[in-house]
Amino acid sequence: MSKVTKVWVFAEKNTALAQLCAGGRQLGEEVSALVLGTKEEAEKAVSYGADKVYWLGSSKQDKMLEDYTATICELLKKESPNLLMMQASKRGKHVAGRLAANIGTSVIVDAAGIEIAGGMIQVKHMVYGGAAFRVERALGKTTITTVGPGLFNALPEDNSRQGSVVEVDFVEPAGSVKCLERKSKKGAEVNLSAAKRVVGIGRGIASQEDIKIVEEFAGLIGAEVGCSRPIAEGVNWMPKERYIGVSGAMLKPEVYIAIGISGQVQHMVGVNQAKVIIAVNKDKGAPIFQHTDYGIIGDLYKVLPALKELIKTNNEN
Ligand SMILES: Cc1cc2nc3c(=O)[nH]c(=O)nc-3n(C[C@H](O)[C@H](O)[C@H](O)COP(=O)(O)OP(=O)(O)OC[C@H]3O[C@@H](n4cnc5c(N)ncnc54)[C@H](O)[C@@H]3O)c2cc1C
Repeated sequence: MSKVTKVWVFAEKNTALAQLCAGGRQLGEEVSALVLGTKEEAEKAVSYGADKVYWLGSSKQDKMLEDYTATICELLKKESPNLLMMQASKRGKHVAGRLAANIGTSVIVDAAGIEIAGGMIQVKHMVYGGAAFRVERALGKTTITTVGPGLFNALPEDNSRQGSVVEVDFVEPAGSVKCLERKSKKGAEVNLSAAKRVVGIGRGIASQEDIKIVEEFAGLIGAEVGCSRPIAEGVNWMPKERYIGVSGAMLKPEVYIAIGISGQVQHMVGVNQAKVIIAVNKDKGAPIFQHTDYGIIGDLYKVLPALKELIKTNNEN
């Protein structure tokens, strides 16, 4: 694939930064990372694949990421990178919009693929709730796109890589955002896109209490537990980080096991890169069976205990 000259990346989390740096190496001749954090964190970006790091400084208690928009804009105007890939976090998307508005380009959100064709950057992303893809080009000098987890695989960390770290002066924004209160989020952090095995829970589960039946099964096979969107954003039985699909996590596991999930397109786009898809559903006409490698037609409350027994017996022998 041909490359553009300069790719810049920005992420709030190290896992995302490592993936974006790896993506940057595929797409650009020179990869620069914008890092807001400690000097050590800035240097770490080099080991993830950055050639150059623009160190925005340590995040200050009284400043929000949005306050760094003016600083980043100055850099963008001066250096005109071809592409800026930003982590598709809520705040990342927010800042991407501000940057694009400031430098006169557009943001292409939730990239599902990025290609360089004839020297032009083309970003594929889902439209119509995941029913179709559209390929877009930004008309500004710099294409800004937000990238979710799993689009690129991080490279192994290489502490021998050489790169430069440039400390950037803070540019006071015209208006700043004030944080009034911080509340800790319920639920443990999870990185579903890195999991090799994932079990997904859908509305086929009758109560929040019953989630533990699936968690026990997942524990036996060393799988992470995810869910469909209604479980996280309808009945709120699981944290939002765990829902899979067009507006949630995109997975690339070796095995995905859907339990009581109907298989609507918005869910399936999040798992269609799984090597093997297995489903348990009591409705033989459920759309999920059109996407599965193996399907079990049956009541999950009977199938899961039977599978657990089978696995336990196998493990004992
Ligand atoms: C713009 C937009 C974005 C969306 N984004 C997402 C997204 O990112 N992720 C996502 O998941 N959804 C998303 N949705 C919602 C999506 O369209 C579906 O509504 C959702 O995926 C359905 O979840 P489900 O399969 O758990 O529930 P249902 O569709 O209600 O399916 C439940 C299934 O469980 C089966 N079942 C019931 N009882 C049992 C039992 N005892 N044993 C076995 N099987 C049983 C049923 O036969 C049924 O097939 C989005 C929708 C829109 C409009």
